[in-house]
Amino acid sequence: MKRTILITCFLFFGLVFKGIGQTVYSSDKGEKYHTADCRLSGDAEPLKLSAAKKAGKGACDICKPNDLGKAKLNQCSGKTADGTRCKRMTSNKNKKCYQHQ
Ligand SMILES: [Zn+2]
Ligand SMILES: [Zn+2]
Repeated sequence: MKRTILITCFLFFGLVFKGIGQTVYSSDKGEKYHTADCRLSGDAEPLKLSAAKKAGKGACDICKPNDLGKAKLNQCSGKTADGTRCKRMTSNKNKKCYQHQ
């Protein structure tokens, strides 16, 4: 019985921390929130994901801040036309960006 309560607590706090811990970026007037490196984040200020959602902001379609932490990013293993390694980051399992699939 005690064990069940303990596990429930762990699961609960795990979920809570996952939601609260994530930082996204949004300007005061922005309707979208972004990841730190999104080209649209501009003069955005860091804020908690939960706060951004509370303020009625939506996730950016380009940087997809909701995928943060879920997918691990790898540098693309493909090569560019001039023979250097592709600098794109990708969450694809085969470590190839959309251009080098
Ligand atoms: Zn964005
Ligand atoms: Zn690539």
